[in-house]
Amino acid sequence: MRPEDAAPRADQTTRLVDYRAPDWLVEETRLNFDLQPTATRVTATLKVKRNGTGPADFRLDGHSMRLLSAAIDGRPVPAEAMIEGEESLTVSAAALPESARESGFEWTCVTEIDPSANTALEGLYMSSGMYCTQCEAEGFRKITFYPDRPDVMARFEVRIEGDAPVLLSNGNLVASGALRDGRRFAEWRDPWPKPSYLFALVAGDLVSHDDRFTTQSGREVALRIWVRPGDEDRCAYAMDALKRSMKWDEEVYGREYDLDLFQIVAVDDFNMGAMENKGLNIFNSKYVLASPETATDADYARIEAIIAHEYFHNWTGDRITCRDWFQLCLKEGLTVFRDQQFSADQRSAPVCRIADVATLRARQFREDSGPLAHPVRPEAYVEINNFYTATVYEKGAELIRMLRLLVGASSYRAALDLYFDRHDGEACTIEDWLRVFEDATGRDLSHFALWYSQAGTPRVSVKEDYDQGVYTLTLAQETKPTPGQREKRPLVIPCAYGFLDADGRNLGEDGLLVLDKAEQSFRFDLPERPVASLFRNFSAPAIVERRISPADRAILMGHDTDPFNRWEAARAFALSIAGELADGGGRIDPDWIAALRTTVTDESLDPAFRALVLALPGDDEIAGEIAAKGGVVDPDAIHHALDQMAETLAEATAPTLRELRAKMAVTGPYAPDAESAGRRSLANAALALLTHVDGGEAAEAAFSKADNMTDSLAALRALVHRGAPGAERALMDFRDRWRSDLLVMDKWLMVQATSPAPGALDRVKALAETDFNWRNPNRFRSLIAAFAAGNPVGFHAADGAGYRFFADWLIAMDDANPQTAARTAGAFETWRRYGERRQALIRTELERIMAKPGISKDMGEIVGRILE
Ligand code: ZN
Repeated sequence: MRPEDAAPRADQTTRLVDYRAPDWLVEETRLNFDLQPTATRVTATLKVKRNGTGPADFRLDGHSMRLLSAAIDGRPVPAEAMIEGEESLTVSAAALPESARESGFEWTCVTEIDPSANTALEGLYMSSGMYCTQCEAEGFRKITFYPDRPDVMARFEVRIEGDAPVLLSNGNLVASGALRDGRRFAEWRDPWPKPSYLFALVAGDLVSHDDRFTTQSGREVALRIWVRPGDEDRCAYAMDALKRSMKWDEEVYGREYDLDLFQIVAVDDFNMGAMENKGLNIFNSKYVLASPETATDADYARIEAIIAHEYFHNWTGDRITCRDWFQLCLKEGLTVFRDQQFSADQRSAPVCRIADVATLRARQFREDSGPLAHPVRPEAYVEINNFYTATVYEKGAELIRMLRLLVGASSYRAALDLYFDRHDGEACTIEDWLRVFEDATGRDLSHFALWYSQAGTPRVSVKEDYDQGVYTLTLAQETKPTPGQREKRPLVIPCAYGFLDADGRNLGEDGLLVLDKAEQSFRFDLPERPVASLFRNFSAPAIVERRISPADRAILMGHDTDPFNRWEAARAFALSIAGELADGGGRIDPDWIAALRTTVTDESLDPAFRALVLALPGDDEIAGEIAAKGGVVDPDAIHHALDQMAETLAEATAPTLRELRAKMAVTGPYAPDAESAGRRSLANAALALLTHVDGGEAAEAAFSKADNMTDSLAALRALVHRGAPGAERALMDFRDRWRSDLLVMDKWLMVQATSPAPGALDRVKALAETDFNWRNPNRFRSLIAAFAAGNPVGFHAADGAGYRFFADWLIAMDDANPQTAARTAGAFETWRRYGERRQALIRTELERIMAKPGISKDMGEIVGRILE
């Protein structure tokens, strides 16, 4: 064996234009695992077949393993016939036996891996004593040598031998039993061909929460959620969400489950939320386990959404997968869109939509406006794990939402039927996806396709004119340059609209117009000057720039039939006040307070909606607005502005807020349904405001009488973030009660990490030193990442201490877990928004990270792009 290249490759970039179909396909994959914590042996037997003609090297991906032996058709492959690269193993075409070149062959290799030392949590690793896997995107190559690419799909048979009582893999169980020395075995067969990234294995001391589901065609499916002993009683909600998801996918998309068994496993150490491995989803335990005492309403909603998301992947991801990783949005954008539709159907659709848009703006617009901006379908990457982003996921979902709006709901369904029909069992591209829509509707989508390749958020400016019965709406669009993409073209932007009259009544017809040029005017005959409601339900992921009078804004806020735009009007009002205050001018308009009071006390409105209206904009949202207008962001000034607004609002409305709290009180035992969650969210939004004027009295009372985590945590946060006298006491009580429940303690860490009260950094430092298992991604995110991303005042402290502290942790984490470290480093992506002094301090830290010996590919790519 000799190294492939003596020198490291100068360019580590993978490019979409370089895609080539695989030379070899795998029809069957047999895996044999002999599990040992430090030396697990994996025997892989692949039935390999030539794809194409002529001689071709047999190249397999693989690294971080020891190759013990390799054979072709049972004959050992001599060492000199194999070239072992840093991340590959190649048998040259010339070294393959004559017969193999045409008809294929059987490849067998034995590798040894060390799951106990795998802190990157990719491949096979250990979490709290159990074995588990994460193979997406390229983790399978740390288990055995393999063509680890999604366009190679094989049927898998897996045999596991180990000490653990429970041994799981994909598909159906075909045999299991006891072996010598207390060891056991289990054999699993998955009838559906799949790419290696969907492989999963779990082994441990687990117990299951069981149920069943009968599919629409009458097939019985066993459902199992596996957790650690003691957690069984926290699975009921996830199980219920799973059954509702299965039913919903049958009813709304006509998709039925396709195995006799569906399993979910909760693990404590996990880089992301969850993973859709075929028939064996693996979840971060945070998104499975819930009980009223330990989970908040928001946790319940997230669990429901993620259970649905991973289940929906069975069709959009597993049965139809991606040809290559550039097509990631093919499965993720579509599956996020599907889980959003599901949540909207289960809960209040407008409330879900508002929450989704708020997340999109906070994460994706932020990404799209900075150094990490990339198209929904990227064209180049160094490390694909860096592209599991808000752009691929959330903007990807928005593109599908726009498509559905443009073609209409029934054509959308017809196109999806065609997609499943035509591409079942295939690995597809965005071109395949769009062609299905073109074929099903007869439309030309070549212009729409630009959304997939052009990065950046378009800005649409609105001009309005009314003259002698004719209302003219002029929309103009512009997208600013993004890294590597200077020239931008006009996009296809759907705008759902309606008109209101001066009394807030409907005027004329609602409709949909499509902006597809740089500038366009649209004319409407209307009997009076309308108050236009534009981009209803956020009909396109765009930034709308519009000058609107306070009076018109009040009409939209009070009367628009589109709840999204009612909320949007309130948000625009608050944002403009906050922006001016932060800039040292402006005042708190009493009309804002009056309009808020009217909305939040309007009993015809859903309490959850009213809570959203009552919530003030976030620091980062205001920072984004200021930066977009070319201003320099001062985090202290923004925070001060928000404080002033909250205080003035609370002073003016304290009696109303107290009344609201009384009215919203939920009686009876806790239930996580959307209705009661909405009441709690309004009550707790009022509580947070009241804490600005009552010294924490109401929050202390609420904390001591809370019988559920939602109310308890809301009260704790109100006290801590205001630095109220009762804060320390409450923190101690909370810790004493929950110290052995690490998922709950994550909330306790996060409340402190995100506190704008003075001394947060010292507190975070102290917490990081005591009994803090930082290698666990949930812990790291709750303390270190939460401080950087959720504590603008502490993180941006003028002396740079916050930056230094954060960079130290990124460097430490990069050695253990590059994926989580690189993702967290995104907190620095907005660094050019701040003043020169802060930029210089951040640059020093970014350069220090870059200079770290042995920096990972993940971190090198992210920090390199941020610095560029
Ligand atoms: Zn997904």
